[in-house]
Amino acid sequence: MRFDLITIFPEFFAGPLDHGILRRARETGLVEVHIQDLRVFTKDRHRSVDDRPFGGGEGMVLKPEPLFEAAEALLGQSLGNAEQPSSPDSKTAIVLMSAAGKLFRQETARRYADLDRIVFLCGRYEGVDERVAEHLATEEISVGDYVLSGGELPAMLVIDAVTRLIPGALGNEASSQNESFSANPTSLRDSSLVGPQHAAPLQVDADAAAQALLDFPHYTRPADFRGWKVPEVLIGGNHAEVAKCRRAAAMEKTQRNRPDLLLR
Ligand code: SAH
Repeated sequence: MRFDLITIFPEFFAGPLDHGILRRARETGLVEVHIQDLRVFTKDRHRSVDDRPFGGGEGMVLKPEPLFEAAEALLGQSLGNAEQPSSPDSKTAIVLMSAAGKLFRQETARRYADLDRIVFLCGRYEGVDERVAEHLATEEISVGDYVLSGGELPAMLVIDAVTRLIPGALGNEASSQNESFSANPTSLRDSSLVGPQHAAPLQVDADAAAQALLDFPHYTRPADFRGWKVPEVLIGGNHAEVAKCRRAAAMEKTQRNRPDLLLR
């Protein structure tokens, strides 16, 4: 997988790419990250990437030319014009980070993990000329219902979420199948843990709710911390009981923190 970040702040990414899973994925060649300074694709003396909005109003807007040209240079192909529109191949996405985009979810991350290449367009100021959203980006994506000051952090979130889904990125493959928003919370319905007589009904329940549930709460030592105790059943070693308890706790936590997930 190759990620390209088109940005006016190339230095922004110095820290976030250099730790943990992302760092290892880069070092082992699972992912390659290229940071592209947008200003390289300006032609005027001031290297301006932005201009005043047509129709008046606050702030500045990122111009379309440098963004189109940066993406074209990276992909080595023309991305067309009104007469002859053109898009990248189906294994490549050009993602515009935008508060007005479609919401990024775990299922989006799973879809992206199957691609070969993602080019991120990081907005700034009031945003980006709409022709970029319409004719350059293959998708316009928001990371949540709030407004940030630039697309760099949002792009970083997407890169992180996608990278950990690429086979080999996590030390333990099971961990990406077992977590919040996962469609396959095996620890909650693994029939070897549940026992044959309980496997069927639990499995049906888990299938219905799998997409929706948050991860179950995790505990480690000490079993008693300042008088707050780990649930007894987790210490007992009865796998069927552990699975049941975790499922109930995941359900309770989903109800408490994200009731909307249960209504989807
Ligand atoms: N005027 C815009 C906000 C611009 S914020 C609006 O009201 O929708 C400047 C840039 O930050 C955007 O172009 C976008 O790239 C990025 N950004 C801000 N919030 C974001 C979010 N929730 N998700 C993804 N990108 C975001």
